[in-house]
Amino acid sequence: MIEMQDVYKRYPNGVTAANGIDVHIKQGEFVYVVGPSGAGKSTFIKMMYREEKPTSGKIFMNGVNLGELKNSKVPNLRRDIGVVFQDFKLLPTLTVYENVAFALEVIEEQPKNIKKRVMDTLDLVNLKHKVRMLPTELSGGEQQRVSIARSIVNAPKLVIADEPTGNLDPDTSWEIMNIFEEINTRGTTVVMATHNKDIVNTIKHRVIAIEGGKIVRDEQRGDYGYEV
Ligand code: ADP
Ligand code: ADP
Repeated sequence: MIEMQDVYKRYPNGVTAANGIDVHIKQGEFVYVVGPSGAGKSTFIKMMYREEKPTSGKIFMNGVNLGELKNSKVPNLRRDIGVVFQDFKLLPTLTVYENVAFALEVIEEQPKNIKKRVMDTLDLVNLKHKVRMLPTELSGGEQQRVSIARSIVNAPKLVIADEPTGNLDPDTSWEIMNIFEEINTRGTTVVMATHNKDIVNTIKHRVIAIEGGKIVRDEQRGDYGYEV
């Protein structure tokens, strides 16, 4: 599903954040991306949804070369990819329902389908009872569940998460991980950058470690491998 071939990313300030990356991620995999701060994890992930373009090398998403993808085709790509952030990025003036429905409205889903899909997805993340609330009325874990609902309401093939438990307490982090497990069990590929050692060492999946923009380790059912 995702293939990177000799990918380099150099930012305008001269920082090389991807330094010759080769990787292949198959449909249905669950992949943790680990490594120190500044290692290039976010850059690696951002290139998958064309938030950043590689300076050189090739990135294929289901056969489409993202480096050559026209900007006008990026929305098409994003239809197949859900993204979850550490800081949730919910729209503060919209209710829970509206935040999730918005993801379908922007892709021009037929209005008659929207309500059922939003409610089914909010049911999956156990938030059906809070549809009318605003993000500020929710706990961090609840906000992250809304953000996950928004990312999957369109049934994407891939969900990308950049430190989704980074702002959450341990109990809440485990709840959020259970949702990602459920999403993955249903066949969706999950790629997650994380610093959560306990989670990586307990819910075992493939681990890709990045340091200095290079993949230094790639193990099926790997360990976190760093202290803290
Ligand atoms: P990580 O997610 O592992 O912390 P990042 O991919 O965010 O790593 O960053 C890798 C390196 O690239 C760091 O040195 C960071 O400061 C730099 N970097 C990230 N984004 C940008 C940017 N937009 N412009 C310039 N440098 C950047
Ligand atoms: P993360 O913790 O995910 O690596 P950061 O806090 O490093 O995120 O970066 C936050 C945002 O700032 C990101 O969008 C990143 O691309 C950008 N960024 C990071 N480092 C730099 C930099 N040196 N110059 C410009 N933008 C940067």
